[in-house]
Amino acid sequence: MLGWSYSVDTPYLRLSHAMRTTSDPSQLHAWASVQKDAGQTIAIVPTMGFLHEGHLSLIRLACARGDKVVASIFVNPTQFGPNEDLERYPRDLEGDLNKLRSAGVDVAFVPEPESMYPDGFDTYIEPSTLGSDLCGATRPGHFRGVCTVVALLLRMSQADLLVLGEKDYQQLTIVRRMIRDLWLGVEVIAGPTVREPDGLAMSSRNKYLSQTERAWALAIPRALDRVATQFAQGDRSVSRLMHTASGTLDEVPLDVEYIRIVDAESLRPLTTINGPALIAIAARSGSTRLIDNRLLDL
Ligand code: AMP
Repeated sequence: MLGWSYSVDTPYLRLSHAMRTTSDPSQLHAWASVQKDAGQTIAIVPTMGFLHEGHLSLIRLACARGDKVVASIFVNPTQFGPNEDLERYPRDLEGDLNKLRSAGVDVAFVPEPESMYPDGFDTYIEPSTLGSDLCGATRPGHFRGVCTVVALLLRMSQADLLVLGEKDYQQLTIVRRMIRDLWLGVEVIAGPTVREPDGLAMSSRNKYLSQTERAWALAIPRALDRVATQFAQGDRSVSRLMHTASGTLDEVPLDVEYIRIVDAESLRPLTTINGPALIAIAARSGSTRLIDNRLLDL
């Protein structure tokens, strides 16, 4: 277990900023109580670690909006299915803590599964309709794990603000709804998807890709770009836009899990676009599952 640890940054980077690191939920909660008593607002950025610029962009949003910033690094076992990559999920705790420290995070929360889900843990939060399609269709129980861990993190950190990425758009929609439905009283701030210069959405899982698989994966942002262009030119037909997307993905040997054009709020499938819509894609390049999306707004 990590206790409180203090470290001093390189002086020319951030004078006197000391990030605390803890794995203990009670310690995080006690720290948060002190902050709340002092009238500070707390922003939290949940992550599974192996941090990249996408995560850091969310940390910057949190620093801009919250007085105090908590970042969690937790590869949450309850959101992984039995045949998924829980065991081999990439990890680099030391590198991550350095990045969080330089970004100005106040507390890095790095819990162990046993302290998040102690013996006898018995209560889960499960979305209904919003979790049934898209990633929910192929990853049963995934959003149940996500909702449960986010609720735990919000309570442990006593956060006022929750910063999430649009990269995981279904997750963002489901968590927003959970907060509203359960009166959790937390404001959700969404950060735009950060991409590599060639358009690939940043993801910790990109590390798994070989050079060839990475080149194939570029068909995903290419498909989204082509659909966005066609939409901007006035095409509102979902079947035609889908045809463009699937044609683009077919140019490379990706294993497409889904391509959907849905209402951006309800996530229900559409036939014609009359309001804010989303195109979402999930596909495997080699054995690596990638997701990406693009808003199609009138
Ligand atoms: P993860 O560590 O993959 O669970 O992601 C933690 C948070 O970072 C989630 O809110 C993600 O939506 C967000 N995120 C992941 N990749 C990106 C990206 N490329 N751009 C912006 N946010 C991202």
